[in-house]
Amino acid sequence: MKRLALLGSTGSIGTQTLDVVSRHPDKITITAISAGKNLDVLLPQAERFSPELIVVADEETAQKFKKAAPSFQGRLKWGEQALTEAATHPQVTHVVVALVGSLGLVPTLRALELGRVVALANKETLVAGGHLVHEVLNKNGGTLIPIDSEHSAIFQCLKGESMSEVKTIWLTASGGPFRGYTKEKLKKVTKEQVLHHPIWKMGNKITVDSASLMNKGLEVIEAKWLFGVSPEQIRVVVHPQGIIHSMVEFVDGSVIAQLGLPDMKTPIQVALSFPERWDSPSPRLNLAQVGTLTFEEPDLETFPLLRYAFEVASEGGSLPTVLNAANEEAVRLFLDEDLPFCEIPDLIHAAMKSHQKKTFPSLPEVLEADRWARQFVKEAGSREKSTTTKP
Ligand code: MG
Repeated sequence: MKRLALLGSTGSIGTQTLDVVSRHPDKITITAISAGKNLDVLLPQAERFSPELIVVADEETAQKFKKAAPSFQGRLKWGEQALTEAATHPQVTHVVVALVGSLGLVPTLRALELGRVVALANKETLVAGGHLVHEVLNKNGGTLIPIDSEHSAIFQCLKGESMSEVKTIWLTASGGPFRGYTKEKLKKVTKEQVLHHPIWKMGNKITVDSASLMNKGLEVIEAKWLFGVSPEQIRVVVHPQGIIHSMVEFVDGSVIAQLGLPDMKTPIQVALSFPERWDSPSPRLNLAQVGTLTFEEPDLETFPLLRYAFEVASEGGSLPTVLNAANEEAVRLFLDEDLPFCEIPDLIHAAMKSHQKKTFPSLPEVLEADRWARQFVKEAGSREKSTTTKP
């Protein structure tokens, strides 16, 4: 029996992970879950799965939880430290990290240090601290399995293959809601348009990242660390139908692709069932019904964040951490309606340019670069706000 700690149970990946777990009660069980403050979603989960440990964001949420679920038998904790406690729970064999942002880094490192299987949906963890994760994996031999659909595809294409025979990793991208837009047209987009992704229904942060192509940029860095390839070996191709989830090209010219209907429950289950495959009621792909698959180059002029991500993937050091943290903060400003969508890239670029790069940052230095970049964007954002709201 696999025993799971699920970090981030109330988000899109979290709730879908619990759906997958419910399909296979004979194979997997829930030991610990963490949620932020969303008790409306957490309370029924607690009732249904009776985890031994529940972690919430803060003491206030914990008090509310206690009041609302007086019969809950397990332990209740709060705060960032407790996330690591869930990830390193002695009974846990598998950890799903479905947190948003670089919050996932420390629990991921600690779980891998104990040799746990970590199913990672949180790409920011690898972007912010990929070199640290890589180091821990080499030393301790834990297992890291991607949940991100593109990386799950590559992971599946590489099964039984040798990395020395891989030429190129081809990441597919839907192109987001603004595919084909010009820079000029991008200036007029509304928050509602940004939050309406043509293929995937996801949380707000990743949906904004998909519209700016930052999501694909983060995935480039994620792929670099997951598969140990250089950024020059990674290519992005826009594929609006979202049927080919990614591809691997080998030295002999053969290309292996993984296909399926867009459904995150499939990569979640692949990560949980590995090295087996389990039955699934997910809708099946019928290519004759899909009809046409199309492909095009990404537009790096209109969507410079993808270009910046390739740049920081090559430069390395603390720059990817800065790119990621600056983006998280810029997206937050955008969602709070304090920053126009088209200005997100400029703000991130300014943070990249002002940062004093560390070549081999330690965990404290990674966390410091993360903090610095957030502060930089916050201050730039509030300057922006005061200049735009003045008469
Ligand atoms: Mg993805």
